[in-house]
Amino acid sequence: MRPFLLALLLLLAPTLAAAQPADDQRLILVTLDGTRWQEVFRGPDLALIADKRFTHADMRDAIEKSWKSGADLMPFLHSLPAKGGVLTGNRDAGQCMAVTNPMWFSYPGYNEIFTGRADPAITSNDKNWNRNVTFFEWLNRRPGFAGKVLAFGNWDVFPYIINDKRSGVPVNSGFAGRYPTETLTMRAALDALREKKPRVLYVGLGDTDEFAHMGRYDDTLAAMNRDDDFIAELWRLAEADPAYRGKTTLIVTTDHGRGGAIKDPGGAAWTEHGSAESVRLDPAGFTIPDPLGFPGSEQIWIAALGRAVHPVPQISQKREACLGQNQIAASALAALGQDWKAFDSGAGVPLPFFSIP
Ligand SMILES: [Zn+2]
Repeated sequence: MRPFLLALLLLLAPTLAAAQPADDQRLILVTLDGTRWQEVFRGPDLALIADKRFTHADMRDAIEKSWKSGADLMPFLHSLPAKGGVLTGNRDAGQCMAVTNPMWFSYPGYNEIFTGRADPAITSNDKNWNRNVTFFEWLNRRPGFAGKVLAFGNWDVFPYIINDKRSGVPVNSGFAGRYPTETLTMRAALDALREKKPRVLYVGLGDTDEFAHMGRYDDTLAAMNRDDDFIAELWRLAEADPAYRGKTTLIVTTDHGRGGAIKDPGGAAWTEHGSAESVRLDPAGFTIPDPLGFPGSEQIWIAALGRAVHPVPQISQKREACLGQNQIAASALAALGQDWKAFDSGAGVPLPFFSIP
């Protein structure tokens, strides 16, 4: 090799290394609004698909045939453990995860996911600019992340929760009409992953909650299945792209659960969610006001896959060992190789199956 070529290569070497810096970790966070662990793990509830109030009679057969289990309904999420990832929150198996906020509905839940702590002052879904700084905003002010944090969601409160005005994090959000549809949000998020290649991509999908409030159990199940397919597609794209392959962590979770058993007369607790306190604050906000609230809607689940995720032995079912929604922000930051304590030392600690790369 001629000396000048060697010198050229030595000059180029740092440039080549810089093209793929070691700290170029990425995150894809997807939330499925108000999606119960019961359906995620057990699959369709036979009583709810047999109930003509909630499931069209001609859908019942199709649902019974195609979705016999949680794994049938959400095959991608259920494939994560075999890929080295995690899917937890199955209370039938002694797993436990819950929100720590006292409200059990969306704004308090998303605030808890994005900031790592519950804010008891958030007591409504009103379009109030969030006073709290999300980890999206914190990252967007850091070198290497500025301008590379993008959010998509089909709920028009997301810009307020993420406070796009102050945070500078663009939030592509909206509601396409009276009938819920998140397909436009999905398309925009897939295009962004392909073309803009953000380091942090957040996608908030809401059809699961909208259809449940409408009492459409069949449409809720179809939304879960479609969401699972979308997440699989996001991951396929990420795996095929050198910008993401091998350095991306995927987190999928929900802002809250829903009520449990069927309540008669008049409806079913599964269509609703919220604590007794939230019902007291806004009884008109509920189709079926219940002074006790809707127990079970504090229960959530999480799925994760990628370079920062390392499954741990079965998590204890003791109540005090229940995983918290307030641990997701620190987990996301740890997955990105960031010091979560520098973000907020009072945030919930990273979940046990996340480790700092
Ligand atoms: Zn809701």
